[in-house]
Amino acid sequence: MACDRCGDLLDVVYDWDRLRVPGSLRDFEAKWARRDNPHHFSGVWRFHDLLPFVPVEQCITIGEGQTLLLPSEGVARYTGIKPGRLFLQYEGMNPSGSFKDNGMSAAFTHARFVGASRAACASTGNTSASLALYCSATKLMRAVIFIGSGKISYGKLSQALDYGALTVQINGDFDDAMARVKEVSSQLGIYLVNSVNPFRLEGQKTIMYRVLEGLRWEVPDWVVVPGGNLGNSSAFGKAFHELKELGLIDRVPRLAVINAAGARTLHELVEMRGLTWNHGKPKLETASTYYDEMDSKGIRADTIASAIEINRPVNLNKCIRALEWCGGVVRKVTDQEILDAKAQVGASGLGCEPASAASVAGTKALVAEGVIAPDDRVVCILTGHQLKDPTATVAYHTTDQEQFNKVLGSRGVRRAAFANRAVAVPNNLDEIIKAIRLYS
Ligand SMILES: *Cc1c(COP(=O)(O)O)cnc(C)c1O
Repeated sequence: MACDRCGDLLDVVYDWDRLRVPGSLRDFEAKWARRDNPHHFSGVWRFHDLLPFVPVEQCITIGEGQTLLLPSEGVARYTGIKPGRLFLQYEGMNPSGSFKDNGMSAAFTHARFVGASRAACASTGNTSASLALYCSATKLMRAVIFIGSGKISYGKLSQALDYGALTVQINGDFDDAMARVKEVSSQLGIYLVNSVNPFRLEGQKTIMYRVLEGLRWEVPDWVVVPGGNLGNSSAFGKAFHELKELGLIDRVPRLAVINAAGARTLHELVEMRGLTWNHGKPKLETASTYYDEMDSKGIRADTIASAIEINRPVNLNKCIRALEWCGGVVRKVTDQEILDAKAQVGASGLGCEPASAASVAGTKALVAEGVIAPDDRVVCILTGHQLKDPTATVAYHTTDQEQFNKVLGSRGVRRAAFANRAVAVPNNLDEIIKAIRLYS
């Protein structure tokens, strides 16, 4: 999955002149009427013309990409955006409950195209849930997944086990699991579906096509996304860059990538140490110096937002390219800010897992700074489903101080500003009625 000469990741490049590309994004609407065709129903393959790396008949779908773009008044108010200007792109509606299915349908397709019978990934949980589901739903490959010990939420682990994947739990964190899975897959000839895989990013471009579709093909001012391994941000930048080159949009939105403060490599490199794509000549020593510093101090990623608990993002180069293409910025938000934002998302119609709420917390910070204007049109990507990590949610809302401290206090979370506490009542009709009268 890397270049033999320079060691950097591969990138998918199309010869658009030889391909049939629609004259207008509106042309995709023709597929809405033919949803009985699974490739038109799929929110990924509906846009096959823009990711034509395998003939469409051979593309694998389990119905991914049936997602929602919803305006949220509550989240708009919370972040300081004018009513009607803030939208949540809810990727939790994918078959395995996260945006990862967009990329997995593409990587899985490529794996089968080249004849693979086994696929592997290291995962903070959602990539493995997605791979495991594609394997169990299609029976076309066997899944081998690597997870770090104690670092995966129960919702995600339960999916991998239920879907029947071979689950290898190693003693280490995501960055360790990632290093191992690369070794193992090259030794055993297993197809690797981590986001080092360039076809994953092709599938994830479609999240942006659906955002445009939801906005009637208008380009928003901002797209705000959590940053972990930086596959999404890289894919979004590529999507907009290609659409612009093809003349299908007249401007690109700005991109904001939000790190958790406890896993802030991108923020540190870009905002503090000035790393840029520099038109294809980035000073990559900036990154290696920082990694050496982290290693010598024994610093490990640590955040409640386990899906972005990553300190060595594999798509760093592609992400800084996307930042250059889209006038991007990077911010970091604390676990406290993430959980408060998550509670606001939950109270405003759509739930999400902790990592997803980084996009909302980051928007709030950028509005406060004056970088995002209150009447900008902003799309926050909600990357994963609310039920992925019930432990964090219940700990936030609990009255049990011990549980709160155990799950959240150790992460520097001090208060649950938007807690919705359960009311404890004796099992007695009068008492129950009294409590309901009192609290409703
Ligand atoms: C994987 C994941 C992320 C991080 O996305 P990257 O593309 O790795 O930056 C964020 N949120 C959720 C829910 C995820 O599963």
